[in-house]
Order: sequence, then C-alpha cells, then structure tokens
Amino acid sequence: MTKIAFIGLGNMGGPMAANLIKAGHSLQVFDLMQSAMATLAQAGAKACDSAIEAATGVDVVITMLPAGKHVRGLYLGNGATQGLIEVVNPGTLLIDCSTIDAGSARTVAEAAAAKGLEFIDAPVSGGTAGAAAGTLTFICGGTDSAFERAKLVLANMGVNIFHAGGPGAGQVAKICNNMLLSVLMVGTSEALSLGMDNGLDPKVLSDIIKVSSGGNWTLEKYNPCPGVMENVPSSKGYQGGFMVDLMVKDLGLSQEAALASQSSTPMGALARSLYVSHARAGNGKRDFSSIFEQFAKSEEK
Ligand code: NAD
Repeated sequence: MTKIAFIGLGNMGGPMAANLIKAGHSLQVFDLMQSAMATLAQAGAKACDSAIEAATGVDVVITMLPAGKHVRGLYLGNGATQGLIEVVNPGTLLIDCSTIDAGSARTVAEAAAAKGLEFIDAPVSGGTAGAAAGTLTFICGGTDSAFERAKLVLANMGVNIFHAGGPGAGQVAKICNNMLLSVLMVGTSEALSLGMDNGLDPKVLSDIIKVSSGGNWTLEKYNPCPGVMENVPSSKGYQGGFMVDLMVKDLGLSQEAALASQSSTPMGALARSLYVSHARAGNGKRDFSSIFEQFAKSEEK
C-alpha cells in the first residue's frame, strides 16, 4: 500500500483516484470543489482542506489539473502559498497527469530536482471512459528512475505506460496526439454529415467506415453523431467527457510548439480555428465531439 495525495478530482481525476483506492492504496485528496471530494471520501479517501495538507506525509503526489498555470502554482507556490515541493517528505515522487505545456513541465521538474525530488510529466489518453475503466494510456517524460517508480502506481489506472523521453517529452507526445485527435473528430463529423445529407443512416455509415480506410478512434469509441453509440457524450447531450475549452487549450499548445520549432501543421491550425469559434459560440463547457453540430443540418442538432 502506497500513501498517495491526489489533487484535482474532475472528470478525469475523480475516477482515476477511485481506481487507486480500489487497488488498496491510502489516499488523501483535495479539489477546489467540495462536491468533487465527497464521492472520493465516500469511497474511503481522506478529504483534505488544502493541497498542502493532502501532500503532507505521503509517498507519491498525483495532480490532474486543467492547465500549466495551475500546475506551476501548486508545485512552485505563488507568493502567499507555499509550493508542494517545499512541504513534501524527502523522496516523495511527484506525478503530474494534466495536459500542459512542455515548458511548464520542465520548469517544475528542474525546481523539484533542485530540492532532491523526482517529478514526472504523465499526461493521459483514453478519455473519461478509460479513466473509469482503468485502461488509460500514460505518456511519460522524466528520468529513467522516476519512470520506473511512477510505473508501479500508474499501472493501477492504465494499461499502456510509455516513456517518451526526458522531462516535458510526455507533454510533447500528448499534444501531437490531441492535435491529430481534433483533426479526426472534425473529419469524422463532416463525413457523417455529408452521408446524412445524402440520405445515409449515420449508424450504417459509421459501421462501414469503421472497417474501411477512413476508420479511426472517434468512430470506434466516441462517435460524434447523437444516437449512433450508447454511453458516449454525443448521446448524453454532449455532457461530461472532454470539454471544448480543454481541446482549445491543447490545440493552442500544439500551435505554440509548432511556431517554436517552425513546423508546418496546417490541419492542426484549421482544427484550432474551428474549435475556437465553436467555443466562442457558447460550447466551451460541452464535450469536444459537439463540433459535429457545426456540420449537421439544424433539425439533426
Ligand atoms: P476538469 O475541469 O473536469 O477537472 C479539473 C479539476 O481540477 C476540477 O475539479 C477543478 O476544481 C480542479 N482544480 C483546479 N485548480 C485546482 C487547484 N489549484 N487545486 C485543486 N484542484 C484544482 O478537467 P478534466 O477533464 O478532469 O481534465 C484534467 C486534465 O486532464 C486537463 O489538463 C485535460 O486537458 C486532461 N485530459 C482530459 C481528458 C478528458 O477526456 N476529460 C482526457 C485526457 C486528458
């Protein structure tokens, strides 16, 4: 049994923390939202009044927060509040599973190393269903020794655990993945809408493309057309899942990385533009598969 602090219990962090409890670990949890802690407390976690309280006296700290500023603020502190790297026990392993910019991940890793602590970036893929089922893919960046230690804990929440490279490498791999995912989601949405506009049943069309050369993850696991697949956000009014605002954040990160490395990413740039205008139309808090509505005829929305 490992003593673990889990901070950030949202759509992803909540079910991930629940799987650690099921695996027999002892959890101290914290989230800014009291309601997010209640479910975990019922499952046996200790709900704490602050991140610092949660991270005190544990072997491993795991964070699952929205963006880089939250991760930097929590680990490094911000004026009034101490950073977690100041308060954890010597030898505590720090694992950040959020999707953030690689620069922030490297900054925190360096500050942690200066205190003799190991920090690993371990963003995930697999969505809320993967988080609940414990089948996430973890994409890690950090030293070999941090990776070996992290693997033991991450195996309770996922099945594929990759070591992409040194600090920040997990984040680079993750934004490449999400840029491609956004392109696939937009492409799948426009293809299904084209078929429907021309008289096809979206379920039949999805079954055809799934096993044809246009097959992809969004059709297999996350169909954007309402009613085609059960238990996905499109069949629940696009609630839960992966928010448009978070996809906009990730596409911004991929475009910043592309600018810095002078890479050509025209499809990613277009997908970012489409998702930004979708968010500006009031869809920021809905699941990212709701981009389908940009293509569907109004009676299909
Ligand atoms: P979410 O908004 O549902 O959860 C984030 C949680 O962090 C919230 O409960 C919020 O209250 C909490 N929080 C924010 N600042 C905090 C702080 N300083 N201290 C404590 N708690 C704080 O987001 P999510 O969907 O769970 O995503 C989390 C991260 O995982 C993001 O970086 C996202 O890009 C990434 N991600 C999400 C998915 C998905 O399908 N939802 C998939 C892969 C990766």
